[in-house]
Amino acid sequence: MSEFDTKLVHGKPENDNRTGAVNVPIYNSSTYIYPSADAKVTFDYERSGNPTRHYLENQLAILENGVQGFAFSSGSAAIHAVLSIFSPGDHLIISKTIYGGTFRIINEFFKRWQLEFTAVDTQNIDEVRAAIRPNTKAIYFETFSNPLLRVTSVKAVSRLARQHGILTIVDNTFLTPYLQRPLDLGADIVIHSATKYLGGHSDVVAGVAVAKDQRIADKIYFNQNSIGATLSPEDCSLIRRGIQTLAVRMDRHLSNAKKVVQFLQKRPEIARIYYPGIDSSRDHEIARQETNGYGGIISFELRDGIDATEFVDNLHLIQLAVSLGAVESLIELPYKMTHAELSREEQLKAGITHHLIRLSVGIEDPNDLIADLTQSLNLVAEKTKVIN
Ligand code: PLP
Repeated sequence: MSEFDTKLVHGKPENDNRTGAVNVPIYNSSTYIYPSADAKVTFDYERSGNPTRHYLENQLAILENGVQGFAFSSGSAAIHAVLSIFSPGDHLIISKTIYGGTFRIINEFFKRWQLEFTAVDTQNIDEVRAAIRPNTKAIYFETFSNPLLRVTSVKAVSRLARQHGILTIVDNTFLTPYLQRPLDLGADIVIHSATKYLGGHSDVVAGVAVAKDQRIADKIYFNQNSIGATLSPEDCSLIRRGIQTLAVRMDRHLSNAKKVVQFLQKRPEIARIYYPGIDSSRDHEIARQETNGYGGIISFELRDGIDATEFVDNLHLIQLAVSLGAVESLIELPYKMTHAELSREEQLKAGITHHLIRLSVGIEDPNDLIADLTQSLNLVAEKTKVIN
């Protein structure tokens, strides 16, 4: 078929559309007619399958180069359905730096199911190897971690996993298939919070999983259908629409992020920047080899003595909100917002200080973003001078 950007726009054409509509319609039907009791029907009940969802799921499989895609009512539901393919007594190796909500599902839910977990630094392949046990069934990590953007090599982890007959599961929310396709690099299952870049407009909560192998896909489908956290037809249509503009949005996120990083590098109020696009960062090399770009999320720390709360409160254009990956720029303080559930000790272990700020760079004019950052930095810098 065509090039990736064309696949984003067209997906897999559906030919059941009797109206000639250019886009797959939103099929709001909970049930479907059997022409006869013995008939084999494609769709019979919404939870088991829906034409709008079917289109999106095919689209996801095409984009990720997998055999089957699945659309869920949230990223968390996708994670739940994927981890539910394992059985009590199975052991999984997870990255120490995964999203807090994933930790919650693991700690508060799957541990009660007697799944065993070991958290390691997945960037350190020796640490991953040392954690493998006879009952280890999978290694789970995020390619770019949240919020410090540490990069794990999908190639290195999946090579090790394959040698031991273990699955590699990758949450690729931060990069999207436009910037990295983990299944092509050796992973077995890829997951996204489609709430972020795939949807792209902060107007829908959704999740995605794509499997490389039909045997695994069948297990995920069983969970999707039996647990039933499927994405509604309306929301499938929003994600479908978001995906059509993914390439142009991501290009703008990337170029804006680069400009914002260059700006932050020049400001004396900034103590440290976490962005895999910076040459000197230790994550840069893996990202350079395994991705087509460094993403639109930047984390940074303000200098000691500068009040991070005051800085984010004084921004006018950039909005103070959790979530990321949308057309509008969003900023947050991980220690107070996305990672507030962690104890102070856990936060510090994860590198989440009171100075740390996460910025999801949107697609606005970069000069406006820089002007907003400038006025707030000037203000907090001036106050710090007065206090000192
Ligand atoms: N994975 C990552 C990396 C996330 O950042 C999030 C949410 O922020 C999730 C999964 C969970 O997705 P959702 O909020 O759509 O349930």
